Amino acid sequence: MAWIALECLSCGHRASLAEDDLPAYGLEPGASLVTLTKRTVCRRCGSRAVVAYRYAEDDLGPTLVPRKP
Ligand SMILES: [Zn+2]
Repeated sequence: MAWIALECLSCGHRASLAEDDLPAYGLEPGASLVTLTKRTVCRRCGSRAVVAYRYAEDDLGPTLVPRKP
Protein backbone atom coordinates (compact mmCIF):
# COMPACT_ATOMS: atom_id res chain seq x y z
CA MET A 1 0.00 0.00 0.00
CA ALA A 2 1.33 3.39 -0.98
CA TRP A 3 0.72 6.39 1.19
CA ILE A 4 1.11 10.10 0.72
CA ALA A 5 2.24 12.27 3.59
CA LEU A 6 1.33 15.92 3.73
CA GLU A 7 3.09 18.46 5.89
CA CYS A 8 2.26 22.12 6.39
CA LEU A 9 5.35 24.30 6.24
CA SER A 10 3.68 27.05 8.24
CA CYS A 11 2.47 25.24 11.34
CA GLY A 12 3.92 21.75 11.02
CA HIS A 13 0.55 20.05 10.79
CA ARG A 14 0.94 16.61 9.27
CA ALA A 15 -1.51 14.28 7.68
CA SER A 16 -1.41 11.29 5.45
CA LEU A 17 -3.73 9.64 3.01
CA ALA A 18 -3.70 6.45 1.06
CA GLU A 19 -2.89 6.49 -2.63
CA ASP A 20 -6.19 4.70 -3.13
CA ASP A 21 -8.03 7.61 -1.57
CA LEU A 22 -6.94 10.09 -4.24
CA PRO A 23 -10.14 9.66 -6.29
CA ALA A 24 -12.07 10.90 -3.25
CA TYR A 25 -10.17 14.18 -3.72
CA GLY A 26 -10.86 14.33 -7.42
CA LEU A 27 -7.44 13.04 -8.42
CA GLU A 28 -6.34 9.98 -10.33
CA PRO A 29 -4.35 7.33 -8.48
CA GLY A 30 -0.73 8.14 -9.25
CA ALA A 31 -1.47 11.83 -9.67
CA SER A 32 1.53 14.08 -9.32
CA LEU A 33 2.26 15.48 -5.91
CA VAL A 34 2.43 18.94 -7.45
CA THR A 35 -1.18 18.63 -8.48
CA LEU A 36 -2.09 17.40 -5.05
CA THR A 37 -0.32 20.13 -3.12
CA LYS A 38 -1.84 22.82 -5.33
CA ARG A 39 -5.23 21.67 -4.10
CA THR A 40 -4.22 21.25 -0.51
CA VAL A 41 -4.91 23.78 2.20
CA CYS A 42 -3.88 23.22 5.78
CA ARG A 43 -6.94 22.47 7.84
CA ARG A 44 -5.36 23.98 10.93
CA CYS A 45 -3.88 27.28 9.75
CA GLY A 46 -5.21 27.69 6.22
CA SER A 47 -1.75 27.86 4.67
CA ARG A 48 -1.20 26.63 1.16
CA ALA A 49 2.48 25.99 1.83
CA VAL A 50 2.07 22.25 1.99
CA VAL A 51 4.59 19.66 0.92
CA ALA A 52 3.76 16.08 0.01
CA TYR A 53 5.78 12.94 -0.39
CA ARG A 54 5.04 9.32 -1.03
CA TYR A 55 6.12 6.47 1.14
CA ALA A 56 5.43 2.77 1.47
CA GLU A 57 3.67 1.51 4.53
CA ASP A 58 6.67 -0.68 5.24
CA ASP A 59 8.81 2.42 5.67
CA LEU A 60 6.63 3.74 8.38
CA GLY A 61 7.14 3.47 12.09
CA PRO A 62 4.02 4.42 14.00
CA THR A 63 1.12 5.08 11.67
CA LEU A 64 0.14 8.70 11.28
CA VAL A 65 -3.53 7.97 10.91
CA PRO A 66 -5.71 5.09 12.01
CA ARG A 67 -6.03 2.41 9.43
CA LYS A 68 -9.35 1.76 7.86
CA PRO A 69 -11.03 -1.44 8.99
ZN1 LIG B 1 -0.79 24.70 8.84
